Amino acid sequence: MIGLEKFDNLISLITYFKDNATCKQFLKEQRWGDDVVCPYCGHHHCYSRSNGQFRCPNCLNNFSVLVGTIFENTKIALVKWFSAMYLISSHKKGISSHQLARDINVTQKTAWHILHKVRSLYSQDDSLELSEDVECDEAYIGGNEKNKHESKKTEGTQGRSLKTKTPVFGMAQRNGNIVAMKTQDTKGRTLMPIIRQFVKEGSRIYTDEYIGYNSLVESEYSHAVVNHGAKQFVDGDKHTNTIEGFWAQLKRAIFGIYHFVSAKYLQRYVDEAVFRYNSREQSESERFRMMFKRSIGIFRYADVKNVG
Ligand SMILES: [Zn+2]
Repeated sequence: MIGLEKFDNLISLITYFKDNATCKQFLKEQRWGDDVVCPYCGHHHCYSRSNGQFRCPNCLNNFSVLVGTIFENTKIALVKWFSAMYLISSHKKGISSHQLARDINVTQKTAWHILHKVRSLYSQDDSLELSEDVECDEAYIGGNEKNKHESKKTEGTQGRSLKTKTPVFGMAQRNGNIVAMKTQDTKGRTLMPIIRQFVKEGSRIYTDEYIGYNSLVESEYSHAVVNHGAKQFVDGDKHTNTIEGFWAQLKRAIFGIYHFVSAKYLQRYVDEAVFRYNSREQSESERFRMMFKRSIGIFRYADVKNVG
């Protein structure tokens, strides 16, 4: 059995995956090894059929290795999918659908679908725990606001208007991982349960002076407030530079590479940015391997299929 680590460059990948049969055989080995598991009922030891499919002796379904993966029902050659995953994982700042379309010779619309499917593999881990020094902050992402002249931006909002923007809440453990998600609003009663889900009790939480964080004062956390209003410079370890750096990266990707992101798909772009950040110490081929393994995992989120 050939290992994923063999594919540390695009040429080796394209050379090896010369046809769909080779790709499917590789997917089968990676996904199941010798014990084919039914994607419908979970029964082990399914049979191989002569047409390359499998049959479950329990629920009697026939299925291909693509069922339950992001490649299910695809009409695109699998080597193009694999190449797309390689390219997406090796572009540090993300890749546009136009660029991907040129690179793997598909239409821009097809490239857009591939990008969205692959982006679905970036879903964040709900069980991740942040601890020690954790910076919390919100960002407001809006399609057109950035391009407006300063004087025409929504007034009196200090950038916190929800009329034109969608809030994203982020938590960054210093020298560690980030968790970030789209939220309905940035009220304390929205943010506190999220903090409690991901940040270990007793951690030190750094925020700005926004009122939404007032509940942290009498909580199981110690709370350090960074006073942005007074325009003070970084005061020792009292800062939120980590999470602010992440917002800058996210916004650069959204406006610089993707140009526009609808609120509907915003979480996918946030997930992608988080994945890139949290895997920043890994090599390109390690990232590709991780993505590949996720691509053949069973879907964890129902919306993955809806993207097309
Ligand atoms: Zn079955």
